[in-house]
Amino acid sequence: MITVEEAKQIVTSEIPKGPKITLPLQEASGRILAEDVFSLLDSPLFNASAMDGFAIHHEETYRASRAFPSYFKITGLVAAGDVPSKPLGKNEAIKVMTGAMIPQGATAVIPQEEVLPSTTTLEGRQDRSATILITREVKEGEHLRRKGEEIKQGGLALSKNTHLTSGAIGFLASLGVLNVPVYAPPRIFILPTGSELVRDISEVTPGKIMESNSFCLSSAMSEMKIEPKISSPVPDVNKVLFAIIEQAIKNYDLLLITGGVSVGTFDLVKEILEKLNVKTLFWQVAQKPGKPLYFGKCGSTLVFGLPGNPASSLVCFYEYVRPAILKWLGYQDCFLSQDRARLVNSFSKKEGRTHFIRARTEKKNGNFWVHVPEGQESHRMQSFAEANSFLVVPQEITELKEGEEVTIHWLP
Ligand code: AMP
Ligand code: MG
Repeated sequence: MITVEEAKQIVTSEIPKGPKITLPLQEASGRILAEDVFSLLDSPLFNASAMDGFAIHHEETYRASRAFPSYFKITGLVAAGDVPSKPLGKNEAIKVMTGAMIPQGATAVIPQEEVLPSTTTLEGRQDRSATILITREVKEGEHLRRKGEEIKQGGLALSKNTHLTSGAIGFLASLGVLNVPVYAPPRIFILPTGSELVRDISEVTPGKIMESNSFCLSSAMSEMKIEPKISSPVPDVNKVLFAIIEQAIKNYDLLLITGGVSVGTFDLVKEILEKLNVKTLFWQVAQKPGKPLYFGKCGSTLVFGLPGNPASSLVCFYEYVRPAILKWLGYQDCFLSQDRARLVNSFSKKEGRTHFIRARTEKKNGNFWVHVPEGQESHRMQSFAEANSFLVVPQEITELKEGEEVTIHWLP
């Protein structure tokens, strides 16, 4: 039996990054860039106005004030999407909308709210409706967005290994990059094993139970935008199991077999994997729940044997399988994020195994407080349904007192 740390070390060292593929931008959200990405356009594409206002020559506001305003004749209007029809002349202002192209010669934009119509002080002088007053000095470049100031065409937009957040997706779209290189997700096969398992309530006859692991695991994967192939429950019959596992090894990158990896008479999975030349990388981890966890490899196919008990299987998923998938997808931080918290209720256990306790952690008066609900047995899922974290109790610890500082892992 190996420790949790050793098991995690083996998993991380065995998981490769997935092959590179190109995905349409909309499908790449949340993934990791597998290569540097370069801009296809200048951003901004042209000199543009940052406000609804007036494009002017800034020098013509030199020493302008309330008492001595500068006068400008409005000679045109440019909407966003239009091309200015003429350059800006002397003592002229051209009305520009936000995002509109700046007329040739203009050196600044003054927001519409900051100019005065000539009528307020200029009674009778010039054509009133077409004249504005500016009552302050405008600096060069005010409210101008300059062509290529954010990034130039061909410039590095995002480097390899960047996480494609919504912000990153928006940035790339603005640069015309609509297809991106990412690591292809693993092809995953979920195989629930157990002669007692049924998927429909009408099949629940004496001795049978509802199969829940595949629902649970595929839900946890959908949080990662991964769609596994899910097998019907397979009975503990050597020949049947052998055939399906043999096929799955050929067609998938990652097998998640649940149940049948413990020491019961009908726990056939390990023996079958050995016959199929799957190399055992570890079996049995000093943890609770999830002691029977199995990890093996056959060519490029990786196999997790997860304990059948639903809570054990989900704990093993979050602590080992999820990090493996994230590593495959190119993530650097693969394990659940952790924090220190204080314990609401005291806790005791035997020495020798790391415990992952389903828990509820909340912030109170600046500290995280972790509450451990009843029902931690590995067949019970209600406490999991209420949990947002694991209280992690190290192997050697036997007692934890109320108020003591502990480590928690956040559930995603
Ligand atoms: P096993 O590891 O096969 O001995 O299974 C341990 C326990 O988990 C048994 O009580 C099984 O009935 C239960 N179990 C196994 N697989 C599943 C599953 N897919 N869904 C719900 N319970 C399961
Ligand atoms: Mg079983």
